[in-house]
Amino acid sequence: MLLEGNFPQEMQELFQGKDGFFPSPREISFSCSCPDWALMCKHVAAALYGVGVRLDENPLLFFELRGINVDRFIDVALANKVEEMLANEGKPGSRIIKDEEAMKLFGV
Ligand SMILES: [Zn+2]
Repeated sequence: MLLEGNFPQEMQELFQGKDGFFPSPREISFSCSCPDWALMCKHVAAALYGVGVRLDENPLLFFELRGINVDRFIDVALANKVEEMLANEGKPGSRIIKDEEAMKLFGV
């Protein structure tokens, strides 16, 4: 999932909350030396836009900016996923249609 650009639901707490990867609003501040009186001047807006474009191009940059070793993070995420898959070994997935339902579906 992570390598596909999707983040597992159960790992969302890593991003949110007090100790999450995302900075809290209090941790974010803007400043610029230009005379614009706006809280977010055009220079700050342009810098944020530039960061957004770079994150769109390479979402893994987020980890780098937070000082997280992305290779290690992916290794752990994959290991957890493999453990989860092994724990579910032999259990039918939720996307598998039961035989009797499939037979009804096709009128057999
Ligand atoms: Zn400015």
